[in-house]
Amino acid sequence: MEKIIRSLHHVTATVSDAQEDLDFYLKVLGIRLVKKTVNFDNHNVYHFYYGDERGTPNTLMTTFPYRGWGVREGVQGAGQVTVTAFSVPEGSLDSWRSRLRDANIDVRDVGERFGEEVIAFDDPSGLVIELAANRNDERTPWVAGGVSADHAVRGLYGITMSIREPQRTLALLTDVLNYEIVNEEDRRIRLAVNGNLPGHIIDVLHSPDAPDAVNGLGTVHHVAMAVADEDEQLRVRKELINLGLEVTEVRDRCYFKSIYFREPGGVLYEVATLGPGFDVDEELSELGTHLRLPGWEEPNRAEIMQGLATVSY
Ligand code: ZN
Repeated sequence: MEKIIRSLHHVTATVSDAQEDLDFYLKVLGIRLVKKTVNFDNHNVYHFYYGDERGTPNTLMTTFPYRGWGVREGVQGAGQVTVTAFSVPEGSLDSWRSRLRDANIDVRDVGERFGEEVIAFDDPSGLVIELAANRNDERTPWVAGGVSADHAVRGLYGITMSIREPQRTLALLTDVLNYEIVNEEDRRIRLAVNGNLPGHIIDVLHSPDAPDAVNGLGTVHHVAMAVADEDEQLRVRKELINLGLEVTEVRDRCYFKSIYFREPGGVLYEVATLGPGFDVDEELSELGTHLRLPGWEEPNRAEIMQGLATVSY
C-alpha cells in the first residue's frame, strides 16, 4: 500500500497565558502566527496556529491558552506526547543557547541523539520543547524575531510519546499508518513515515514507570498526521474502524478537515488533510493579524471578542 500518512501535520497543546504564549513562539522561537482564531469547541478561548510563512503542515504548533478558565495544571506522563521538537540547522545551537538564556530560559543539553545534537527547555506553560540540529531539512524557514535565516526554525522535527507498553502503539504505527522503525537506542524507538526526515518523525519512549498523563495546562493535547485529501482521510478512517478503534466523524477545522482517535497507548491522534490551508480566509501577507472566526461563530463576534484576553504582538 502506498504511504497514506505524508508527515506530521501539527501538535496541539493546552497552555496557560495567551500573551506569554505569543511572546515565546513569535519572539523567542521566531516562528509565524499564521492564524488567530478561537477553540471551535469553546469560543471563549483562543486557538493560535504557529508555523512557516503559509502554515505548511508539519511546521505547525497550535495552542489553546486556557488560563483563567478553571483548567487545572496537567500531568506529563504515559499516554501522551511529552516532547515537541523543532528542527534547526546543524551548527546553530550555540546561538540558540545564548538566545534562550537572554530570554531567561534554562537550557538543558540533551547531547547527541541518533547522531544529532539536541537541546531542551520548557515553554512558558511548562511544555517540554527540543531543538534538534540537523543538516537534512530543506524547508524554507520563516525569518523573524531577530533570528537569522541560517539559524531559524524549519518546522517540526518530531514528537516523543511516552508509552508504558509500546507494543500495540508500535503495531498501529507500522501496520496501519505505514511508519517504519528507523532507529533505536536505550528506551527510545524512532519511527518515520514517507522518509526519515524532520517533520516525519515519531519517537516512542518506553516509559513503564511514568505517571498517568492528565490533560491540562502545560501538556500536549494531541498530535496530528497529514493525509493528502479527504478521500485518503476516509480511507484511513475506514481502516481504523475495521480494527475496532473509535474514530470521530470528519470535522471541519476551516483550514483542514480532521478525524480523531485514541491509539492503544493512550495518545490522542488526529489525521488532518493538507488543505485548504490558512489563506482561505486571510491574505498570505496578513496571516495571523486578524481574529478569524468560523462562519457559524460570526454572529457571536462581538460577544466573543469581549470574552477574549487582549493580546499584542
Ligand atoms: Zn489538531
